[in-house]
Amino acid sequence: MSLVIAKGLTKTYRSGDVEVQAVNGADFSIEAASFVAFVGPSGSGKSTLLNLIGCLDHPSSGTLTVLDSDIATLDRRAAAQFRGRNIGFIFQDFNLVPVLTAYENIEYPLIMVQQWPAPRRREQVMRLLRAVGMEAQADKRPDQLSGGQKQRVAVARALVSNARLVLADEPTANLDHDTAYRIIDLMKKMRDEFGTTFVFSTHDTKIMSEAEVTYTLEDGHVVSTTDKREAAHA
Ligand code: ADP
Ligand code: MG
Repeated sequence: MSLVIAKGLTKTYRSGDVEVQAVNGADFSIEAASFVAFVGPSGSGKSTLLNLIGCLDHPSSGTLTVLDSDIATLDRRAAAQFRGRNIGFIFQDFNLVPVLTAYENIEYPLIMVQQWPAPRRREQVMRLLRAVGMEAQADKRPDQLSGGQKQRVAVARALVSNARLVLADEPTANLDHDTAYRIIDLMKKMRDEFGTTFVFSTHDTKIMSEAEVTYTLEDGHVVSTTDKREAAHA
């Protein structure tokens, strides 16, 4: 089953008289429970593409279907609801709330977006803390955690609302190489455990080899596709 289908997808930004085709006729599809990377140099359209898939931005043309919804038809309110229900986000600079503990950062989406009763919330947060190996740091604030630990908390936060799809825009860009690999491994483990689809972007060609499916972007469109699962089945 395809979770995301893009056909001739474009996003044009206009600044003054200048038009930038940030995404320029991208075609791809993402299967449920897959582990996918978008790879390309800076400016190739990775962030724009992830923002479109995450309903944070509106396509200029083409079609984009996410979880059977035609994204172009959603207004702001419907898009926000759709995101809250289905999509988790992981960022390059972690984006944790500085005054909240690891536990509270993970709990945050459940309080803000979904009205879960307290005992169910606690059970879910503890489950995620364990899954990402951060139980012992539950009461630490972000400034008491390493970069890798912060990103573990962010991975847990992205999963806490039972998102079907997690989008991670350059999640390893602020991590050293060993830590970067460990975070990618953690995301893959979470995919295995929860069946969540993970889509990440990177400009690091070493990190990209950890993905099952890789889409290489150049100037806003997909110039090549590598599918290790196909190769394994061939
Ligand atoms: P990447 O994430 O691969 O570095 P981006 O998606 O951020 O690429 O950007 C793709 C292109 O679109 C770049 O040329 C960038 O300058 C341009 N761009 C991105 N966002 C905007 C915006 N809000 N306004 C104008 N141009 C933008
Ligand atoms: Mg980017």
